Amino acid sequence: MIVVMKEGSTKEQVEHVVKRVREMGLKDHVIIGEERTVVAVIGNDRFKDHGVLENVDGVDRVVPILAPYKMASLEMKKERSVVPMGSDASARIGGKRIGVIAGPCSVESKKQTLEIAHAVKEAGAVALRGGAFKPRTNPYSFQGMAEKGLDILAEAREQTGLAIVTEVMAVEQVALVAKYADVLQIGARNMQNFNLLNAVGDQPKPILLKRGMSATLEEFLLAAEYIMSHGNQKVMLCERGIRTYEEYVRNTLALAAVPELHRVTHLPVIVDPSQGTGKSNLVDSMCRAAVAAGADGLIIEVHNDPEHAMTDGAQSITPPMFADMMKAIRRIAAAVDREV
Ligand code: PEP
Ligand code: MN
Repeated sequence: MIVVMKEGSTKEQVEHVVKRVREMGLKDHVIIGEERTVVAVIGNDRFKDHGVLENVDGVDRVVPILAPYKMASLEMKKERSVVPMGSDASARIGGKRIGVIAGPCSVESKKQTLEIAHAVKEAGAVALRGGAFKPRTNPYSFQGMAEKGLDILAEAREQTGLAIVTEVMAVEQVALVAKYADVLQIGARNMQNFNLLNAVGDQPKPILLKRGMSATLEEFLLAAEYIMSHGNQKVMLCERGIRTYEEYVRNTLALAAVPELHRVTHLPVIVDPSQGTGKSNLVDSMCRAAVAAGADGLIIEVHNDPEHAMTDGAQSITPPMFADMMKAIRRIAAAVDREV
């Protein structure tokens, strides 16, 4: 539920509401608005007596939140969230400008990463992606360069100014990855790794949360809720395709998730057409479609030599293809009143 305070309510009155909320065994999150203060009550409040709070001095009304997720819900916060990705103010997701994150699936070498970083920066990307810890189906496949890879990403940031987005796969890696990265990516396979969600919720770096390949949108939002209920509000949702019976693509990119998520949450929505199709020839069209559907950001795999990429070469586009795609989405963005 949310407790809406009266206009002009005092700090003491808000503190009293917070005290009562805690006495009820629930958590509070105070949102100070321009005109009014709202106390978001977090936790399972279904069987709590809302009337108790309604009668507290300074309270205007108590509004139940119907969605099972609270902090992530649009009922809780009406304005769309904007998530900053680094120290550069232009690197953010949400708002009028569509943020493009691009780079290799995996960091493979310093030369490869720096070359790609410069190319995507030149074409207008605001952040560099690249996995240093890779979740691989086969234990004998390349697992990523680990800390060496993170160090290469940090150098790429230094040279280009791009924010760094990279995956963290385990609780024990959170501190290390957070030391280097601007944004921590939670991969599809870890969307319901609740210990990991709690751990990234306990630290301040923004989170790019991928939708699990068999997760419903409600499960996806409840995963975001884990992170937010631990104190980290900087969550970006990423639709990356779901697994279906279909075989012409690696995953079925569920673009309807974009407007549907915007209907129920204030969190920004990013689309990943690379994992979302598995085919480089489909990436450009799906980038255009994602922008037309209202996506707040894109995350795209770009490789300077896709044929020899150590991971996901088949879905990686080249820097020239990326530059062409950026030109195309600028026109589409203008048509839907956005910018790239
Ligand atoms: C990736 O971004 O390279 C990746 C492994 O993504 P996902 O977790 O969506 O499969
Ligand atoms: Mn990949």
